[in-house]
This record gives sequence, structure tokens and C-alpha cells, in this order.
Amino acid sequence: MNYFEESEIACQCGCGHNVTPPEFLERINKAREIAGIPFNINSWNRCQQHNDKQPGSAKHSPHIRGIAVDIVTIDDTQRFVIVDSLLKAGFNRILIYPKRYFVHVDADETQEQYIMRIML
Ligand SMILES: [Zn+2]
Repeated sequence: MNYFEESEIACQCGCGHNVTPPEFLERINKAREIAGIPFNINSWNRCQQHNDKQPGSAKHSPHIRGIAVDIVTIDDTQRFVIVDSLLKAGFNRILIYPKRYFVHVDADETQEQYIMRIML
């Protein structure tokens, strides 16, 4: 089952950049299945140029490799359901940005695996 449209997955600058590996796509879909609520995607794939325009984005952001997703979360209930589903799907790099209304998840195996952090 795939819950996500190409338009949600590909770079939002319109360049069509989409290098998400099938395993990552499968795992996000698994989380979405567990959550049972829509994932409103804020950012998934990013080309280098689009990535560099994002405030606070790392030069080697996993978004460039298509293995990071920012999901819009408007309240605590939504945050809980989505983070819970990501953990159950086996993700171990989750950043919660309550003040910026999104949850970031990635599968960057070259970086520290920290399970979950709340970014205040
Ligand atoms: Zn782009």
C-alpha cells in the first residue's frame, strides 16, 4: 500500500528530484498504516539548491538523499499518534518541533541514532 503521491515525495521546488529508496518508502508507509491518520508532508526529497534555501538545513541533509520526511503536526494528539507510529515502524531518528508544527524523521545511518528529540 502506498499512501503518498509523487507530488508529495518529490522536491517541492518543482525539479522532480526523487531518490527515495524503496525500503524507506515502505517504512514510511508502514508508519502511516499504523497511525491511521493522514501524513501531511511538508518536505521530503530536496535537490541541493532547494535544500540550501531551507532555514537551518544542514549542507548534507538526508532530505537530499530522499531519506528524510517532515510531517506537519498541529497539536499534541497528532504528534503523539505520528511519533508513536514512526517508532513502531522502527525509525530511530525522530525530531519533534512543537513550535514549528512539524515532526522530522530520517534514516541517515551515517549520523548518530538518538531515537527521539524534542526541539524547543
Ligand atoms: Zn528541487
